[in-house]
Amino acid sequence: MKVEQDILQQNDLLAARNRGWFEGRSILALNLVSSPGSGKTSLLERTITDLHDTLPMTVIEGDQQTLRDADRIAAAGAPVLQVNTGKGCHLDAGMIKRACEELQPPQGSVLMIENVGNLVCPALFDLGEAAKVVIISVTEGDDKPLKYPTMFAAADLCVINKIDLLPHVNFDVEACEAAARQVNPKLEFVRLAATTGEGMELWYRWLRQHSANTCGDKV
Ligand code: MG
Ligand code: ZN
Repeated sequence: MKVEQDILQQNDLLAARNRGWFEGRSILALNLVSSPGSGKTSLLERTITDLHDTLPMTVIEGDQQTLRDADRIAAAGAPVLQVNTGKGCHLDAGMIKRACEELQPPQGSVLMIENVGNLVCPALFDLGEAAKVVIISVTEGDDKPLKYPTMFAAADLCVINKIDLLPHVNFDVEACEAAARQVNPKLEFVRLAATTGEGMELWYRWLRQHSANTCGDKV
């Protein structure tokens, strides 16, 4: 386990550097984590379409292969950089450092980092973000917070997506939130449907509040 510890320590050093870099530029960096298929990219597409006139946003897309998600984000209107991890199952702080050198997110912007769809090791690799946003969709099991407690314990906000499908699935929103609170009493929740737009205003309020705080620290 020595090797793993060294890798995580090295990552933490780079993450701390990234965090300082973001703070120096009043950039709100968010690490979006979830299982594959929870709707991270759809959430970002809608968010960019709705907010990019008032809130500058850039995106780093993490996937093992393809440029598909980056193409969707670019079409929505935000500067984006795709990081392909190959066989790797998470983004690390070094990848974010290199991506930022290329992407050059502007002062006072929001940097959305869409991690590789995986609820396990992205919980361990700090990227230097201000907050982790964990996304769970109602097509998954409502007991996921208990199965992947490390991720839910590390998150600041939990987005429950695809609530338009609730009549068709066996997902208990209250039970899911209770399970998540069990592992993280401070976790906040937003229920929404990125495809219909229902509930998006709550997510936007959270985003605006956090981006205002980030810029407020500087001024
Ligand atoms: Mg995606
Ligand atoms: Zn991994």
